[in-house]
Amino acid sequence: MDEIEIVSYSPKSSYFGDIYEIEVLSLPDRYGVVWNYSIDSKQKRAIIIMHRKLDFGGNCFRLGVHHWKNGVPEISITENFYKLGKDLQDSFFWHEIGHIHFKHFLHVKYKSQDEVREHRIEFLKKEDVLPEEIEADVFAVKRQGKVKYIRFLNFLKDTRPAGKYGSINDYGKKELLLRIRKINDMKI
Ligand SMILES: [Zn+2]
Repeated sequence: MDEIEIVSYSPKSSYFGDIYEIEVLSLPDRYGVVWNYSIDSKQKRAIIIMHRKLDFGGNCFRLGVHHWKNGVPEISITENFYKLGKDLQDSFFWHEIGHIHFKHFLHVKYKSQDEVREHRIEFLKKEDVLPEEIEADVFAVKRQGKVKYIRFLNFLKDTRPAGKYGSINDYGKKELLLRIRKINDMKI
């Protein structure tokens, strides 16, 4: 069999499908790589998973985040990530890979993290959740199954510190409750 060619990540390419594989490397600066394979499986491109110290303000037990650098995605994980078992770690990855797969928060729709947060809060005030979050959740459920993924959302909800009304943690807990409810009600 031919070697799979490694190519650089381009957000414009439609040549890459939804086959992803997580490879753990445990290097000092990076945890590993998520490989995304081309439709003909002759090429693969990398999403690097970095270790980082991240400041999430009120969100004390955040596990990590995905972000885009000039159209190239990256996933960063915090030390909290290492406290989890494998199923919870996988749930986290599949959710973030879902965001990357659908190119969430890449385009001009939200100019900054603050804008995303404001948008998030607008939805929560209407007892609703950002559609991007649900899309990433559904992506993860399809990889992992509903039982494991809902266990993950419950874990996030229970480890999120209680905040006073209207605080980041208060909204965070509310959003997780709504996500659990939505995923529960879906026939997937
Ligand atoms: Zn998300």
